[in-house]
Amino acid sequence: MDLCPLCSAPLTGRTVREASPDDPLRARRKEVRELRQCVPCRHLVWRPERDTGPWSDGGPLLPEHDYLFATLQPLPEPWAVVKDPQTRADLEAQLRTEVAGGHPLYGKKVIAVARCERCDEVVYSVEEDPGWFAQVHLTWRSTPDRPPWPWTERLLLPLTTSLLDHGH
Ligand SMILES: [Zn+2]
Ligand SMILES: [Zn+2]
Repeated sequence: MDLCPLCSAPLTGRTVREASPDDPLRARRKEVRELRQCVPCRHLVWRPERDTGPWSDGGPLLPEHDYLFATLQPLPEPWAVVKDPQTRADLEAQLRTEVAGGHPLYGKKVIAVARCERCDEVVYSVEEDPGWFAQVHLTWRSTPDRPPWPWTERLLLPLTTSLLDHGH
């Protein structure tokens, strides 16, 4: 059985293939890792692909890992997962700028998880509720907008299905 190297809990969840690591050395060696999450201790674990040995600790789970493991398929075009930490921080700061008291996202801690590559729509995960994904049409104003703007909709899960409805 596959066990967590930290807490020995069984690793029963989905496996994600990490084929393009940030680490240039691993990228050059084309080293592919399998990733799983340990739910009880909230750590990411990994081992080389096709290895059947023990798993190694990959550090605490980050918000984007939650998102990865919750999604079963890649996002439909033209949606893209927000991977760059600076872009993510900018999108989160912009939302905080635009929402005023009375907006459903006012005062909420959010994580920018995906964006449309053709318009200003961004999908945020609302930290207090793992099932709450809010699609927001950012206006890129520098001052708070009047609720209900910026317009937001709660997306149904799975995201891969609900994001298909997005047209231009
Ligand atoms: Zn664990
Ligand atoms: Zn769009």
